[in-house]
Amino acid sequence: MPGHGRVASANVNPLLTPSPLPYQLPPFADIRVEHYREALDAGMVQQRAEIDAIAADPAEPDFANTVEALERSGQTLHRAGLLFFAIAGTCSTPEIQAIEAEFAPKLAAHSDAIHLNPALFARIDAVHAARHDAGLDAEQVRLVERYRLDFVLAGAGLDEPARADLAELNQQISVESTRFQQNLLAAMEQSALHVTDVADLDGASSDAIDAAAEAARARGLDGYLVTLASPTSQPLLASLTNRAVRERLYTASVDRASSGEYDNGPTAARIAQLRARRAALLGFATHADAMLADRAAGSSAAVDALLDRLVAPAVANARAEADVLAEIAARDGITELAPWDWAYYSDRVRAERYRVDTGALRPYFELEAVLHDGVFHAANLVYGITFRRREDLVGYHPDVRVWEVVDSTGEVLGLYLGDYFARKGKRGGAWMSNLVDQTFLLGTAPVVYNSLNIPQPAAGEPALLTVDEVGTLFHEFGHALHGLLSRVTHPRLSGTSVPRDVVEFPSQVNEMWMLRPEILSHYARHVTTGEPLDPAVAQAIRDAAQWGEGFRTVEYLAATLLDQAWHRLPPGRSVDDPAAFEDEALRAAGVAMELIPPRYRTGYFQHVFAGGYSAGYYSYIWAEVLDADTVEWFEAHPGSVRDAGDEFRRTVLARGNTVDFTESCRSLLGREPDVAPLLRRRGLDRA
Ligand SMILES: [Zn+2]
Repeated sequence: MPGHGRVASANVNPLLTPSPLPYQLPPFADIRVEHYREALDAGMVQQRAEIDAIAADPAEPDFANTVEALERSGQTLHRAGLLFFAIAGTCSTPEIQAIEAEFAPKLAAHSDAIHLNPALFARIDAVHAARHDAGLDAEQVRLVERYRLDFVLAGAGLDEPARADLAELNQQISVESTRFQQNLLAAMEQSALHVTDVADLDGASSDAIDAAAEAARARGLDGYLVTLASPTSQPLLASLTNRAVRERLYTASVDRASSGEYDNGPTAARIAQLRARRAALLGFATHADAMLADRAAGSSAAVDALLDRLVAPAVANARAEADVLAEIAARDGITELAPWDWAYYSDRVRAERYRVDTGALRPYFELEAVLHDGVFHAANLVYGITFRRREDLVGYHPDVRVWEVVDSTGEVLGLYLGDYFARKGKRGGAWMSNLVDQTFLLGTAPVVYNSLNIPQPAAGEPALLTVDEVGTLFHEFGHALHGLLSRVTHPRLSGTSVPRDVVEFPSQVNEMWMLRPEILSHYARHVTTGEPLDPAVAQAIRDAAQWGEGFRTVEYLAATLLDQAWHRLPPGRSVDDPAAFEDEALRAAGVAMELIPPRYRTGYFQHVFAGGYSAGYYSYIWAEVLDADTVEWFEAHPGSVRDAGDEFRRTVLARGNTVDFTESCRSLLGREPDVAPLLRRRGLDRA
């Protein structure tokens, strides 16, 4: 049936077949909650049958009957999964959460059943061994290599007893990670700062005070409860005027989950040890080596080479910043700057030196203007693409709008869904994901969405963004472009399916357009007067952003190096004193600064002990090195911005994971990526 509208009868689960809507946009209006459960279950059954058929194929294994067949398998599960997790992130309900909890172990077991199928792995291994002599193209060779690595990392190459050991280790790691998370949750609650006199919160905004009063009420306490944010630096440390209260808040933050009932130190040490044993079982020297096998960085040595170049300039700059802060603090009679003073005096410097009043800027950044005259306009200038609103297509929520993306040639590329406002049931933060992947093999075009958490304005009022929110929109749209401009054959390699340490590269690059004079002047206009933002203010925003980079880089590098230290332990080297281990790791790496603790200390480093970032926290800066280098490349490009954009699109954005990203950068830049542009951007080349 062409076009749109309600297409499924009430009894038919629309997730069991490809959507008849344009671009296979899911028929949201026809989907009921129970359809997810049914489609996920049916999708697993279907894929298991497909996998069994591939594994039992009497024909000699080749690319088409093994790897390509795997790429074609599981389409119902994939379709239902993409949609379900989109809804779970943006429109969650207790029913949706129940399905999430029910399916997490089922999906993990399903994935294990595929990856630990010995007959299937033998076929992949055979295709892999012959990959250079089978007439395969570069994308096919890379696909075979990715598949084999996925299987090896899951333990497919192990014999039966070793596989039992692996399952046991995975089980223990999952138990310890859950313990880590639960300890942390309890420690966060326990460590919240309770004050009864509002004067103790002097300097805090009225919003922050209201939130603290509400938090206290919710816990049945008098007064105010300042709950802890995840990283070491607590937002209120920048504004609290009472030094003793700052000290209490800071101490609560750095000491959480590091002693007593909820001490995560021993848990972290056990996780590191279990991971080291698992890595050894899989044939790697350390857990870091196992993790880096599937990252663009490729090796611990490459990560070290990058970090080594950053540590000394970051520490030197942080020391210079400390001197500036100490001078201002001395005016308040503080003779020795303490860690809990840093954010407070740093904000003073920002206000005195740069005079950027970020609140007063919001009327210049109205959402529709930022979106159409900024984000879309930049994409048009740089890549020649345009955005056509499709009122006839509906999103998964009334807030969601749908655009068709059209290339300069008139070719339609895919759909972009914008979901910008915070609401109940949407998780925090901002992200991009696909509802449909671009793939020539299966003949589908990309359908991508951006989800942000901009506060919903009052009815009839415009949504005015902060500078940070404008940056977030450009950033997330950069991920969307990576998905939309993909031109690859295989779904496993499509769009943003790239290693974790480079996935942030295209999104960070897209942030460059936000403050470019010709683009900024196009969208930053006062919402009522239409007056353009003063270019001097734009410059001040840029300059102010550089202040504090010494501190930010040091706290980030310290956490990164701590992550590396824990995950480079050899098996059998257990850590009895986690705090001493942490101190020693930071000292050895040259980032131990009394005034600047790591962004996360061991006890609350959830990314690496209970999230997906173990030995991977370096990824953010790895991507930023490529990003800063590419931004300078754009600026120095001899052709038009469109020429540069086309080249970047062809070399990087269109390629998905079909080529190594560092290699794409190399061919774009004509040389090895260099860390100097990042140092310049952060102002770290000056100390
Ligand atoms: Zn991102």
